[in-house]
Amino acid sequence: MIPVNEPLLNGNEKKYLAECIDTGWISSEGPFVSRFEQGIAARVSRKHGIAVSNGSVALEAAVAVLGIGKGDEVIIPTFTIISCAAAVIRAGAIPVLVDSDPITWNMDVEKLKIKLEDEIDRKGNKKIKAIMVVHIYGLPVDMEPILELAEKYHIMIIEDAAEMLGQTYKGQPCGSFGDISTMSFYPNKNVTTGEGGMVLTDDDALAEKCRSLRNLCFQAKKRFIHEELGWNFRMTNLQAAIGIAQLEQLDVFVTKKRKMGQKYTEILSDIKSIDLPVQRTDYAENIYWVYGIVLKDKLPFDAEEVMKRLGEKGIGTRPFFWPMHEQPVFRKMALFKKESYPVAEMISRRGFYIPSGLALTEDQINDISNALHEVLV
Ligand SMILES: *Cc1c(COP(=O)(O)O)cnc(C)c1O
Repeated sequence: MIPVNEPLLNGNEKKYLAECIDTGWISSEGPFVSRFEQGIAARVSRKHGIAVSNGSVALEAAVAVLGIGKGDEVIIPTFTIISCAAAVIRAGAIPVLVDSDPITWNMDVEKLKIKLEDEIDRKGNKKIKAIMVVHIYGLPVDMEPILELAEKYHIMIIEDAAEMLGQTYKGQPCGSFGDISTMSFYPNKNVTTGEGGMVLTDDDALAEKCRSLRNLCFQAKKRFIHEELGWNFRMTNLQAAIGIAQLEQLDVFVTKKRKMGQKYTEILSDIKSIDLPVQRTDYAENIYWVYGIVLKDKLPFDAEEVMKRLGEKGIGTRPFFWPMHEQPVFRKMALFKKESYPVAEMISRRGFYIPSGLALTEDQINDISNALHEVLV
């Protein structure tokens, strides 16, 4: 079986982990954590990085430090991981959904503008507090028009750059946009710590608040007296040790991802029944965090069937995200009633991704291509 993801751990991971064990520094108090925070922050041109336990809680912390709460609204793409909507809903706020662009699979910026201005017309300028921008699969969201809208209407921006470490938008690093941004270091991400995440910001006050929230809001002088309620979202020194070793190789990883993606495109582009990721837009070169495929209308079956057939040939796959407005859990909460987003509904049924991990070999890519050619003749 070719797994859908296998990370590459062939740098200094073991060496730095051994250092943790030899020195006894295994908790979040160890020295690798702040080194990792500084390394990631420097890489995405941010002043502060606050390491946390995973990318999902990074979003929760980001929403909390921006003061988003009960009755507020946050614009998010409907086509994304549930972590985005969960962070908004857990804060007592309401996600306002936007459909996807059929080519990049990112939030459609034209539709975002229409939705935002419509919400403002109906409810005034007070409800919508933030736009959560999520870069999906390989190409960044077109940031410029969103930054303009945010400035015009005084709306904050949370940038979920979990899939986009090492990617740039018009030459500027993903993870450097808006008021606050987040990363994930799950094993399929461009840098992994096993589990892990980070909140990034240039704002000193937000960073300080985030550090406090991450650490149960312990106080410096009277440690066990709490003025506010926080979480234990800390990252361990062991995780950060792996992260530093990974970060040392980020440029190699990014080059490898791009090469893999281009190779897939080269050998799959003769299959007429599928849409492949776009290699470049006028603002970025695809980083192929995962290599997505969308079945064209003429193919008489859905992604589920193709994935089943590929599985029988030993090829691991994953379905695309399932839209937020079609999630049973949110329907039960009476959210998104009667809402419909046709592009997201189409790509979630017709899309899936093939093995895209950093440990993938050229031979495996050829096997995957052969299997796809057999399944999709
Ligand atoms: C992976 C991912 C997350 C969640 O990160 P975890 O570390 O798995 O909690 C959030 N947003 C996006 C876009 C992701 O790809």
